Amino acid sequence: MTATLIDGKARAARLRADIATHVAPFKAATGRAPGLAVVLVGEDPASAVYVRSKGKATREAGMESFEHRLPVDTTSEALLALVRDLNVDPRVDGILVQLPLPAHIDTQAVLLAIDPDKDVDGFHPVNAGRLAIGAAGFVPCTPLGCLLLLQDIHPQLAGMEAVVIGRSNIVGKPMAQLLLQQSCTVTVTHSRTRDIAAHVRRADIVVAAVGIAQFVQGDWIKPGASVIDVGINRTETGLVGDVDFAAAQAVAGAITPVPGGVGPMTIACLIRNTYVSACRREGRPDGLGTAS
Ligand code: NAP
Repeated sequence: MTATLIDGKARAARLRADIATHVAPFKAATGRAPGLAVVLVGEDPASAVYVRSKGKATREAGMESFEHRLPVDTTSEALLALVRDLNVDPRVDGILVQLPLPAHIDTQAVLLAIDPDKDVDGFHPVNAGRLAIGAAGFVPCTPLGCLLLLQDIHPQLAGMEAVVIGRSNIVGKPMAQLLLQQSCTVTVTHSRTRDIAAHVRRADIVVAAVGIAQFVQGDWIKPGASVIDVGINRTETGLVGDVDFAAAQAVAGAITPVPGGVGPMTIACLIRNTYVSACRREGRPDGLGTAS
C-alpha cells in the first residue's frame, strides 16, 4: 500500500483563492482592503524570506500589506511603540511580529503588547486561552493549516485517536487543542515521553512537530493512519520533515510531503486569519464555510 499524498501546496492555493473571492465584496462594502502589518527586526535571511512571501500572499489576496523593517539594534521600547501604533491604526487588521527577535529584545513583552483582536498569529496568551475554552479568537496558523488538511481526509474526526509529537506553544499545544475540539482522543508526546513508538502505533492521526529530521519511523505508523509532518529540517540532502517519509508512505493511508505539505498552509491560514479579523472589526460575517 502507498499512502495518498496530501498536496498542501494545492490546498493552500485553493484557500488563498477562496479568501480572495471574499475580499472583493468586503472591499466593496467597507471601502477598504483588509490590512496585515508585518514587522521584521534585523536581517535574518530566513525571516526575510518569510516576510517577503507573507507580503506577496497578502497582496495576491487583494489585501493591503504594511511592511516594517527595523534595524537589528532596535530597542524593545521602539518596537513596543510601533506595536502600539499598529494596535490603533484602523487600516491594520492583523499584526505579525516575525520571530525570532534579536536576543536583546523581550519577545514575551512584544507579543503581549499586540492587541489580541489583531493577533492573527494567535500567539497572545489571550488567544491561547480562547482556544483552550473554545471561544472565538485566533488559532496559530500552522496547526490550523494541519487541521484543514486533516478535515479534507476525515470530514468527521470525532472519536479518532490522535497523537501529537511536540508540545510547543506555536504548534504542538494548539494542535492538541484543535484536535480535542474536534472530539479526537488526543495524546501529546514530548522529549520526556516513555516509548513514543507505542503511542504512535495506536494513532489514526499522527502530527509530528519535533524538529528532528526523520524522527518518526515507518514501523511506528499504524497501517492506514493519516500522517501530518510539520517538521522543516535543513540537511545536507535538502529539506526533510520529522517523519521518515519513504518508510511511512509505505504504511500510512495519507501523508504530507516536506516540502509542499504543511508549509504552504501556514501562510494561507495567515491570510485567512487576517480576513476574518477584518470582518470581525467591521462587524461583518466572514462567509467562510468549515473548509476554510
Ligand atoms: P520546538 O519549539 O523546538 O518544539 C519541539 C517539541 O518537540 C518540544 O515539545 C520537544 O519536547 C519535542 N521533542 C524534542 N525532542 C524530542 C524527542 N527526542 N522526543 C520527543 N519529543 C521531542 O519546535 P516547534 O516550533 O514546535 O517546531 C517543530 C518543527 O516544526 C520544527 O522542525 C519546525 O521547523 C517546524 N515548523 C514548521 C512550520 C511550518 O510552517 N511548516 C511552522 C512551525 C514550525 P520538550 O517540550 O519536552 O522539549
